[in-house]
Amino acid sequence: MTTRFENGIVVTLGEKNRVLWNASVVTDGERITAVGDAAEMKQRFSGAESVDCSGKIILPGFICTHHHFYSTMARGMSIPGEPASNFVEILERLWWKVDMALDEEDITLSAQLPLIDCIRNGTTTVIDHHASPAMRDGSLDLIEKAVRQAGIRASLCYEVSDRNVAGGGIGENKRFSKKVGKGDGQIAAMMGMHASFTLSDATIEECVDIAREASVGCHIHVAEDAADREDSLSKYKMPTVERLEKSGVTGEKSIFVHCIHIDEAEMDILAATRTSVVHNPESNMNNAVGITPLLKLLQKGVLVGLGTDGMGSDMLVQMRCAYLLHRLANHDPRVAFLEAPQLLLQNNAEIAKRQFGLDLGEIAEGRPADLAIIDYQPPTPLSEANFLGHLIFGLVDATVDTTVCKGKILMKGKQILSMDEARIAARSRELAPKMWKRLQEL
Ligand SMILES: [Zn+2]
Repeated sequence: MTTRFENGIVVTLGEKNRVLWNASVVTDGERITAVGDAAEMKQRFSGAESVDCSGKIILPGFICTHHHFYSTMARGMSIPGEPASNFVEILERLWWKVDMALDEEDITLSAQLPLIDCIRNGTTTVIDHHASPAMRDGSLDLIEKAVRQAGIRASLCYEVSDRNVAGGGIGENKRFSKKVGKGDGQIAAMMGMHASFTLSDATIEECVDIAREASVGCHIHVAEDAADREDSLSKYKMPTVERLEKSGVTGEKSIFVHCIHIDEAEMDILAATRTSVVHNPESNMNNAVGITPLLKLLQKGVLVGLGTDGMGSDMLVQMRCAYLLHRLANHDPRVAFLEAPQLLLQNNAEIAKRQFGLDLGEIAEGRPADLAIIDYQPPTPLSEANFLGHLIFGLVDATVDTTVCKGKILMKGKQILSMDEARIAARSRELAPKMWKRLQEL
């Protein structure tokens, strides 16, 4: 089916970003077939379905390169006992209980809820990291089903860790990556690993062997807290990134999440091995774990993307958080204006390309038809030259009206079409207290 998304302001992004006023994007099936002047597109594609986008900006759909769908049902839950005073306590008292308490229906719901948020925020591609030790085998199939129903793209993995049972979760990644194979452009697989401090050498070796066999990258939290670095230094006499490089975890398909407590030599390893880093500024601030040395990593040529780490699914909010955080952290109001949008708009597209083999992140002929159409009447002139100013100070607070992925309209006029939002939220309100109760008994 051919559709004209017409009469909007099209921001193409890509290497040569163009801002086209009164323009249209034409899609045919899963691909974009033409972009240009609205009147010309109407003439050329007169038989196409039309979606009016006047008063709106049309951007490529956003990409999130690190998420935890499963965290959503913990929203509003009170945590038993004293408040956690450090990162390891946050894991032990909160997240390792949340993931343990999830049952089959919780896994489905806790994927559907953030998937709705993704659609609401124009996020059309996600790289997720899942854990549910009590309902582990087959859990990725439940999430895959929810993703296909929602209609966005996702790369999925299960978080391997020795914390419950040695090598727990390796089999789930092996099974799922084999099933997904090369992928169909909508679902991809990675080898999920928790973090160096919960993984023995033997477990890492097994993960790497399976990842190589399946031609997938490893998705692992790295030096999120100083405790991860200290653990590696004391047990293995080397810092975290070095340990992971020696075990073969690095590589251009691999994603090292956070990389906060790392030194220059470790940054050089990341650059030399073309390993991607994903920065999650809101999560890092929430857990009070420290600040990723973003500017230094970029200077060294490391590919750094942007994720939410389960904090939400709104990528523009994360972008602005990165912008603000690194200005403050560097005590320099000249930095991060280019870098924060670069993580979201360019680097996330490159990281996603390594997972899905698709050229996402640009509106151009032949590219995947993934669009975020946002209510925005520019109050000042808008062009290629000042787009980032509008992005950081205007679009970040604007509302997404229509979301398109693989050419399919998933939300139109702020109505989610692919999922029953009210039913899913109501069911989750029923089940969440039961999950919270099970969690208190762990
Ligand atoms: Zn994470």
